Amino acid sequence: MASAAAVVSLDPSGNLCSFFKQDQKPVGWAILGLGSYATTQILPNMRYCKLSKPVAFISGSPDKLKRYGDAFGISPEHRYSYDNMDAIKDNPEIEVVYVITPPGTHKDFTLRAARLGKHVCCEKPMANSVAECEEMIDACAKAGKQLQIGYRCHYEPYNLQATELCRKGEFGVLRSIQASMGFSAQPGIWRLNKKLGGGGSMYDIGIYGLQALRYLSGEEPSEVFATISNPPKDERFKEVEDTVHVVFKFPSGLTGSVACSYSWAGVNRYEVLGTKGRLVAENATGYYGFQFQIGSRSVTVQPGNMWASQMDHLSECIRTGAKTNRTPGEMGRQDIRIIHAIYESARTGRSVKLG
Ligand code: NDP
Repeated sequence: MASAAAVVSLDPSGNLCSFFKQDQKPVGWAILGLGSYATTQILPNMRYCKLSKPVAFISGSPDKLKRYGDAFGISPEHRYSYDNMDAIKDNPEIEVVYVITPPGTHKDFTLRAARLGKHVCCEKPMANSVAECEEMIDACAKAGKQLQIGYRCHYEPYNLQATELCRKGEFGVLRSIQASMGFSAQPGIWRLNKKLGGGGSMYDIGIYGLQALRYLSGEEPSEVFATISNPPKDERFKEVEDTVHVVFKFPSGLTGSVACSYSWAGVNRYEVLGTKGRLVAENATGYYGFQFQIGSRSVTVQPGNMWASQMDHLSECIRTGAKTNRTPGEMGRQDIRIIHAIYESARTGRSVKLG
């Protein structure tokens, strides 16, 4: 941001890495699930990675394996189906499996990858329950492999800078953080299927607001109170929730809120209110077009590539043996725990304390 000194050491590509030797071989990644996020964000942005390289694809679709395999230079013998993916065990080029499938499938794919001797990066939300998250953490630990959750905002320069400013007191004592996340969900998508999606708007997009509350404040909520409302007779919400409003209490006295919905025209913002200042972020956790304002002043941060930074961070941890991933499985598990407390609060009409 204009007035603040750089607080993270991002190189021009946005990579956070500092001690990876240039002559080391990039870490080989297998992309599992060739859906929208994998093919429109992850793969195109992987070309900015310095330490990570796509070396294999795993997909249920032979057409996609051919199309994207050809487009991204993956040789035919490195293209796997879900049925034959156990063969990746014997492919030493694959060191990481990046699971980019619906949340209801994350646990099984993660367990499989860990048992096949691979590190795992798994997309958010981590899994359908805390118990599933535990299984994933345990499986990776037992296999001696790393587990990262794809929380890209922890590697995104605007959010990193906002976090730094919040934590160092630029806005005084933080009193309130409010986040709103929403888009209009089309009928028929897996996001409306409880088994595959794990939950509704809170699971899929409210989680970005919850994450923002956690990383901006550096605190964990101690209590939640929530309401859920579904539009009457809307067939989309037979299994999962539409609109959620949650209030969070934090130990310091900070209060937060997350509002999220599958029935709103696109919204993605948060607002931080402190005793000395205010930060408003629009398109706060999106892909591009970040607009951050301190008071009435627009701020600009040197751009970086969050996807490349996220993937290179795991690669760096693997090469150096560091057990200090910024977005580990434990972080994903905590979000799932909080989200299930939110559901409990909405169901019971009472606030739920988080021990
Ligand atoms: P898509 O529906 O576009 O792609 C999911 C892919 O998963 C499918 O194309 C399919 O790939 C594979 N798949 C495997 N099993 C199943 C199954 N049972 N049902 C449906 N698909 C299956 O979803 P997205 O790419 O939008 O989302 C994937 C994951 O990425 C989710 O966890 C989502 O929350 C996360 N995500 C994260 C974002 C971020 O900013 N971090 C942004 C968007 C999504 P194939 O045909 O190759 O087998």
